[in-house]
Amino acid sequence: MIPKILEGKTLAAEIRCSLPARIAAAQSRLGRKPLLAAVHCPGDYASDVYLKKELKACEKTGIAARAHEIAKDTTPSDFIKLLRQLGSEKSVDAILVPRPLPRQLSDAAIWEHLDPKKDIDGASVSGMGRLFLCKTPAELEAGGFFMPCTAWAVIRLLRRHGINPSGRNAAVLGRSSTVGRPLAHMLSCLDATVTLAHSKTADIAKTLSGCELVVSAVGKARWVKADMLRPGAVVVDVGTNSDENGVFCGDVDYDAARETASAISPVPGGVGPVTLACLLENIVSAFEKSA
Ligand code: NAP
Repeated sequence: MIPKILEGKTLAAEIRCSLPARIAAAQSRLGRKPLLAAVHCPGDYASDVYLKKELKACEKTGIAARAHEIAKDTTPSDFIKLLRQLGSEKSVDAILVPRPLPRQLSDAAIWEHLDPKKDIDGASVSGMGRLFLCKTPAELEAGGFFMPCTAWAVIRLLRRHGINPSGRNAAVLGRSSTVGRPLAHMLSCLDATVTLAHSKTADIAKTLSGCELVVSAVGKARWVKADMLRPGAVVVDVGTNSDENGVFCGDVDYDAARETASAISPVPGGVGPVTLACLLENIVSAFEKSA
C-alpha cells in the first residue's frame, strides 16, 4: 500500500506566512514588537533543544523573546513568584513553560499562577479547564483560550490532509497533560471513539488492532511496530526521539509502518513544524489581545 504522507512543513509555512502582517497591524497600535518570555531549565535536554528552536523561530517571525532560567532546585514559591511577575509585566504578551518541570514543581496547583491570557501552550488551570469543558468542534474553535499546541497541531495536520476522525476508533498512546490527554479529548470532540493508552495498558497491540486512527506520543524510538497496526490505519507520530545511534526519529517504525498504513506522518517534517507554527500563532494572538 502506498500511504498518504502527512507532511507538516507546507501547513506550517502557511501559518507562519500569515503572521508578519498580523504583527505589523498590532505593532502599529502598541508601538512595540510582541514579547515572549520563555522559562528555561538549563541542562534539561528537551528544554534546551526546544528553546533554541523557539527563539530562532521567534526571531525569524519578528517576535522578541527572552529566556528566564530556573535552577533544577528552584522552589515552588520562587517559581510561582516568577510566573506572577511575568503575568503582571505589561510588555510580556506570552509565557511559555517547558514540561515536564523539575520534580519539586510537579504540583498541579502551580499552573493556577500562569496567566491564562499569556498561556500560549494551554497549560494553565484555566486553559485546561476551558478545553475540557468543550464538547463539540464548534466549541473547540470558538476561541477565548489557547489550545495545547502539540495536540492542536495533530488535529490541524489531520484536517489539512482531509482526514476526519468522526466515527473512527482512535487510539492515543501516551497520557501526558502536554500531548496525550488534551489530544484524546480533542479527538472525542471531533466524534472519534478514543482509547487513551499508557504504560499500564495491558495489551497495546490488541488495542491498536481495532483502531483506524493511531497517534503515538510515548517518547520511545521506533517503538510502534507495523504488526501492531491495523492494515489501512492512519498513523500520526508525535514522538521526537534519538535512537541508539543518535539518529533523530519518531515513536513509529516508519519504514515498516508505511507498508501497512493508509496515511502516516514523518519524523522529522510531520507534527513538529506545525506545533512550532501553532506556538508562534498563539504568541501573535496574545499580542493582538494586548493591543
Ligand atoms: P511524557 O510526559 O514522557 O509521556 C509519555 C507517555 O507515554 C506517558 O503517558 C507514559 O505512560 C506513556 N508510555 C511510556 N512508555 C509506554 C509504553 N511502553 N507503552 C505505552 N505507553 C507508554 O511525554 P510527552 O511530553 O507526552 O511527549 C511524548 C513524545 O512526544 C516525546 O518523544 C516528546 O519529545 C514528543 N513531543 C513532540 C512534540 C512535537 O511537536 N512533535 C511536542 C511535545 C512532545 P504513563 O503515563 O503510564 O507513564
